[in-house]
Formats: sequence, structure tokens, C-alpha cells
Amino acid sequence: MLSLDGLSLRYGKHLALDGVSIRVDRGETVVILGANGAGKSSLLKAIAGLVKPDPGLTLHLDGRPIAGLAAHKVLEAGIALVPEGRGVFADLTVEENLRLGAYARRARAGETRQRAFIFELFPKLAERRAQLVGTMSGGEQQMVAIGRALMSNPDLLMLDEPSLGLAPVVVGELFEALGRVRDAGVSVLLVEQNVSLSLALASRGYLMEVGRLVGEGAAADLRADPAVQRAFLGLT
Ligand code: ATP
Repeated sequence: MLSLDGLSLRYGKHLALDGVSIRVDRGETVVILGANGAGKSSLLKAIAGLVKPDPGLTLHLDGRPIAGLAAHKVLEAGIALVPEGRGVFADLTVEENLRLGAYARRARAGETRQRAFIFELFPKLAERRAQLVGTMSGGEQQMVAIGRALMSNPDLLMLDEPSLGLAPVVVGELFEALGRVRDAGVSVLLVEQNVSLSLALASRGYLMEVGRLVGEGAAADLRADPAVQRAFLGLT
């Protein structure tokens, strides 16, 4: 459903991404693994239309070209991003944050259904729908960020390090919820440092090193790969 070919991106003279190509099939969960600074966030931002790549990129969603579209048009086309650091509005309630996620035209018809799905996914949000998001825990705020992105009724949900700074038990809950998002038919593209959990969730993965793809494979093969174990799983 998503195919991206030949993505290069510069910040001034610094080449942050160098000819990256990936694909995500319908209903698939794909993880991008790589050390800090490998370019994982830049990759998601480029797909979301938040940074401007070098010319020469081809990017299609369900066969439709979306390279160069503004961020709100990418969202309208069906791709939602949960950014690193969540980007929720601390001074607004859970309900207000969710409503902001539903401004896309594609979201309006299904708003009630999407809200019900999100409250089923994260019952805590239903209980606390009138609470100011700034007063909630990091894990709850991450649920709000995921819920807000889901309100746009995306075909592809992209998440940038959703587990960052959260307690293991909360991370487990989040990943379990992401599994249910995938089971509901939404494709998921995930950037993560939590390699074991994300390879357990994903069906495929890509490895990035300083702006380039250096490997890819089925999640099970990556988990068994000694190089991946050394680099990412802390095993020898
Ligand atoms: P992290 O996990 O630390 O966010 P990452 O793999 O997501 O790492 P990016 O954030 O995409 O990596 O950064 C890739 C490279 O581009 C890094 O060298 C980073 O310092 C640089 N970079 C990122 N954003 C900018 C920016 N706005 N201006 C200049 N350089 C940037």
C-alpha cells in the first residue's frame, strides 16, 4: 500500500537520508530499527510531508503519488503520524485532543465509530475524557496521541518511538493495543528502540545506519540474526 523509493534528505549540507526505499503492505506492521541519529524520525517526517526531501523521490499510497504533498494532504490521503514526544495539547482535555484529530475530511463520517474504537482500545481514556492531558501520566498521554492519530481514520499509522521514557508494563499495554489496531486492518509503520517488543509485533523490519538502509527481513529472521542481536538486543 505504501511504496517509497529513493528518499534522500538534507539538513543544510548534512545528508540525513541517502536513497532510502521501503514498502508497507496492506494490514502489515513494519518496524524501522537503528541507533540514535540513523535517520528514522526523518524518514517518518518525510513520508508525513513535514520535511522536504531531495528531488527524485517516488512515494505512493495505494498507487496514488503523494510525494511533495503538504502534511494535511498526506493526512487526508490516509497516513497519520504519532510524533516523537507525542505532540498532545496539555491544556486541553482528552476529548478535545481527540476531536482535534478528527478535523480531516476523511474522518468526519466515521467520527463516532472511531471514538468508540479508541475508547475500547484504551478504556482509561474513556474514564478520563474530561481530564486535562497535561495532568496525565506519560503512558496515558501516549494513548491520547495514538487516539488522536486514529481519529483521522488512517489506512497507515506511523509511530515515532512510542515507548520512549515509559515503564515496561505501560509499554506492554501500548504494544498490545497496537496489535489490535493492526488486527482492525490499519497498517502500522513503527520506529522503535524497543527491539524485542517491536520485532514481536511486526511482520517485517528494516535496519538503518547513518541515513542508509543496511538490512531488511522478516521479523523472525531479524530476531535470529546474530548481527541484529549484537547491535540491538544486547546479546552476544
Ligand atoms: P533519534 O532516535 O535520535 O531521533 P533518528 O534515527 O530518528 O534518531 P533523525 O532524528 O532522523 O534520526 O536524525 C538524522 C540525522 O539528521 C541526525 O544526524 C540529526 O542530528 C540530523 N537532524 C535531524 N533533524 C535535524 C534538523 N532539523 N536540522 C539539522 N539536522 C537534523
